[in-house]
Amino acid sequence: SAKIIDGKAIAENLRNTIAAEVADIAARTGAQPGLAVVLVGNDPASEVYVGSKARQTVAVGMRSFEHRLPADVPEAELLALVARLNADDAVDGILVQLPLPAHINTDRVIEAIDPAKDVDGFHPVNAGRLLIGLPTLVACTPLGSLLLLQSVHQDFSGLSAVVVGRSNIVGKPVAQLLLQHNATVTIAHSRTRDLPAVVRAADIVVAAVGRPELVRGEWIKSGATVIDVGINRLPQEPGAAKGRLVGDVAFDEAVKVAGAITPVPGGVGPMTIACLLRNTLQAFRARRFGE
Ligand code: NAD
Repeated sequence: SAKIIDGKAIAENLRNTIAAEVADIAARTGAQPGLAVVLVGNDPASEVYVGSKARQTVAVGMRSFEHRLPADVPEAELLALVARLNADDAVDGILVQLPLPAHINTDRVIEAIDPAKDVDGFHPVNAGRLLIGLPTLVACTPLGSLLLLQSVHQDFSGLSAVVVGRSNIVGKPVAQLLLQHNATVTIAHSRTRDLPAVVRAADIVVAAVGRPELVRGEWIKSGATVIDVGINRLPQEPGAAKGRLVGDVAFDEAVKVAGAITPVPGGVGPMTIACLLRNTLQAFRARRFGE
């Protein structure tokens, strides 16, 4: 049965490395990275994410700035806040928690963020730099997925990879990263014909679909590495406090066939915030020391 890729432990290692570097820079220069997180409205899932981002930011020795705006805030006011954060020298990273309320144009807000502070990596300039292969801030979940794959494979040369899902925040950037690291990449999506056959051809499978257990064990090539980005909550069962969390891969089936696989929870999830902190440190170094 497959090796379980321990995202929790790998994320903890990454946070420890970041904390040590932050402490070292502080001792040498007195400077401290700062991350600003903007939350519009009070979506419960977003509240949880923003809370853990702030906690982990402080835990690695960075400054955390939280900005909460009401759900009906005019777009102009949010854009004005982004402009202030762009100009604030204590702020190295800016993250506007998505989704935004429907009356706000999300693209306009993302494009208003200084690309040098865009630690989510969603700004078109950073997405474009990734495409071209220039150094850039890479979106956190794709970057986390890459780091997990690199814990299994030194190099992807000669390996075929299938990314299921083509969203701008996961599927597309994951595919770009795999390509950059020499995998032979296929992107599958809702209009793909015979998805099982496409997945069966792959040495590396990254599932970012948002459909509970869509990818079955019998689709997986023996020995393949499986990264499950999906986070889906199943309907609540009688007597349970909450529905169970499952990925986009049928784990119990796939674990018998795969060579290595990420669990849900405890796989990609913990890597996302760790990579956000990594990006904040990278943005801080580039802005303040030109590194
Ligand atoms: P999305 O809805 O934006 O994109 C889903 C993609 O899957 C689309 O490109 C669509 O074409 C494809 N798709 C849909 N149905 C399909 C099918 N039946 N067969 C093949 N492809 C199909 O979703 P997203 O934002 O990319 O997120 C995907 C999943 O990853 C979600 O479960 C989300 O919760 C999770 N996620 C996790 C993290 C994290 O771990 N921190 C971060 C972001 C997203």
